[in-house]
Amino acid sequence: MFNETIKNFSPEFILQDNFTKNHVLSVLEKEQIDLNDLGALLSPAAAELLEPMAQKAHAKTVKRFGYTMNLYTPLYLSNECVNSCVYCGFHTRLAVDRKTLTREEIEKECSVIREQGFSHLLLVSGEHPGKIPFEYILDSVKIAKQYFPHVSIEVYPLEEEQYSFLRENGLDAMTLYQETYDANLYPKYHPAGPKANYEYRINTMDRAGKAGIKKLNIGSLLGLNHWKIETLYLAFHLSYLKKHYWASEVAVSFPRIRESAGAFHPPYPVTDAELVQMIMALRIFDEQTGLVLSTRETESFRNGCMRLGITAMSAGVKTNPGGHIGEEGGKQFIISDSRNPAEMSRHLAANGYDPVWKDWEMGI
Ligand code: SF4
Repeated sequence: MFNETIKNFSPEFILQDNFTKNHVLSVLEKEQIDLNDLGALLSPAAAELLEPMAQKAHAKTVKRFGYTMNLYTPLYLSNECVNSCVYCGFHTRLAVDRKTLTREEIEKECSVIREQGFSHLLLVSGEHPGKIPFEYILDSVKIAKQYFPHVSIEVYPLEEEQYSFLRENGLDAMTLYQETYDANLYPKYHPAGPKANYEYRINTMDRAGKAGIKKLNIGSLLGLNHWKIETLYLAFHLSYLKKHYWASEVAVSFPRIRESAGAFHPPYPVTDAELVQMIMALRIFDEQTGLVLSTRETESFRNGCMRLGITAMSAGVKTNPGGHIGEEGGKQFIISDSRNPAEMSRHLAANGYDPVWKDWEMGI
């Protein structure tokens, strides 16, 4: 399991090297790079070579994905949560309007989202054993599957048998961010609730992979730890998952902390230039992996990242339960790019990209 494997990995060791510009340029000439090479692409020397990195990242992306962009949107099922993640607007002690969608409300949201053109839906919820039991997640997947050919979840960690059951009932993919891979920092951000269990969370992708979930989407919440350290952890986790669960696709997201009801200030803020370097470095490290950028980022930033390795973007996003049918209750965070799917689609087309509404089209 990954909790054992990660104990032998020291990202700090890789970053200690004094990489030069020539070293970075030699890495950019390679077809395949390893974790040490990735360390070079994260170095200050590489920060001065963003243009050649951009060319390499773009060429690798086009080679595997063409000029396509996968579009999806989240449907928030519930903002009830028993956890205390210090950065989150759904933190258990925050006084936000709490809501769990009824079956009828889920159907209405699905219907509205489907009419917008989406074929890929992401079901999102907090963690509350009483109000959001596994059966509720299962029912939600079954409902969503009546409207969408591709359904994924971003909910609390589950057991292998539960992932198997969801897969048998139509689940295509799952997203779960480790938030930070640093076992010492993790408890500071997750002081209470089931999510305080670092080991259980870090083995979640193993359970989902063993259950045969077709797509596993990992990520670090950017701002909780130094971005270079988290990039190396992500690359290490990515390589591990591809080796052990070769039948599953792996994708990486880049969630950067946004303003929320808790007004959390990230101790390791990530600048735009650093996030660009991170995205390009991971793309050069692995040209097969889908890279996801959400509406946490601004319109102009997302437009710029389109050619640097990103292959999937959300659009028309609401971060509260019922947001697609006009509810205004507690939001998880404030989005930055409010373009609707039609606007996103027009922008992509104007720049020579095909919007892909069904995730499975990417693999054809
Ligand atoms: S990040 Fe998830 S688990 Fe943590 S408080 Fe927010 S909704 Fe709950």
